[in-house]
Amino acid sequence: MTQRPFNFSAGPAALPEEVLHQVAAEMLDWQGSGMSVMEMSHRGREFISIYEAAEADLRELLQVPSNFRILFMQGGGLAENAIVPLNLSRGGKVDVVVTGSWSKKSAAEARRYADVAIAADGASSRYCDIPAPGSWQLRPDAAYVHVCSNETIDGTEFHELPDLKSLGSEAPLVIDCSSHQLSRPIDWSRVGLAFGGAQKNVGPSGLTLVFVREDLLGQALPICPSAFNYQTVAEAQSMFNTPPTFGIYVAGLVFKWLKKFEYAGKQGLAAIEQRNIDKAALLYAALDGTDFYENRVAAHCRSRMNIPFYLRDESLNEAFLAGARERGLLQLKGHKSVGGMRASIYNAMPLEGVQALVTYLKDFEKRHG
Ligand code: PMP
Repeated sequence: MTQRPFNFSAGPAALPEEVLHQVAAEMLDWQGSGMSVMEMSHRGREFISIYEAAEADLRELLQVPSNFRILFMQGGGLAENAIVPLNLSRGGKVDVVVTGSWSKKSAAEARRYADVAIAADGASSRYCDIPAPGSWQLRPDAAYVHVCSNETIDGTEFHELPDLKSLGSEAPLVIDCSSHQLSRPIDWSRVGLAFGGAQKNVGPSGLTLVFVREDLLGQALPICPSAFNYQTVAEAQSMFNTPPTFGIYVAGLVFKWLKKFEYAGKQGLAAIEQRNIDKAALLYAALDGTDFYENRVAAHCRSRMNIPFYLRDESLNEAFLAGARERGLLQLKGHKSVGGMRASIYNAMPLEGVQALVTYLKDFEKRHG
């Protein structure tokens, strides 16, 4: 088998090759059923078995407590920016911590349904730092507090989720974990609701994972569409309407891949987290070791998943990208809003992919430095 290029896309992003092979092998006939998963009724026993295994594996991987429901929804992260306030705000107050592009979008969307206040804003650091939780202005009667736990464009990550109780707030914490879900464990004791589009670490776009604490169900505004009412979706085991069946199937295979994953003497989520730590450390060390490249994010909140960087001489950008493509290092161009480069190194990116990028960084600098 020839080696595939290393794909650094921020999302939709690379999936484990093993999973893609299995999907291909089962495309025309899923396990002797005579059907592709795409062609099965979501209420038939074949698909129900796929769904139940996916849910159980996900719950086990992330150690999701029994008082949380897992919903397999549609609409992606941006739809959740509306769906969350429709379900949780009760038309009241919502506090948002703005740490970059995605949380800014969340605040703007929530404003359509709730009284939104910005509890803190990292603008003064150009979103290269996360404002310390102790400095957040939290309103005592907020229905919830929203943070984006990994800013995919700005490259910051909460390595520890804020403990709102210790900040004097009883409000549930909502996290947009689109771009780091399943890269590390989640401390559920600090979270009321977590959501994430699947297209980075989980599977194809379209599928959206929602983890919601049961006591937060049943408060949706009357205008909330039924298909987006968490309680309705939870009661119907994510089958109030036709769920994204193929996405759930692929995600289920990714969960099985993760459960078996071994690295550095560890298995499962602990193993993938360790590999993510090692990959990120390798790339940051290479960027920090030279003036030719630059990552601007404060060391304590650098993302393990999305690493934006700049060439000091930006006139070399096109040459850098072309040379990378020639070496099979794909989709390194930074987000259009911030320019530069970005290496997204989600779970499916092997260590060898980051090593190949680091070698290229050094070679390119030698030629152009
Ligand atoms: N939140 C975050 C953190 C994201 O990275 C993205 C997509 N890159 C979104 C929300 C929006 O997701 P979608 O395009 O699935 O609506």
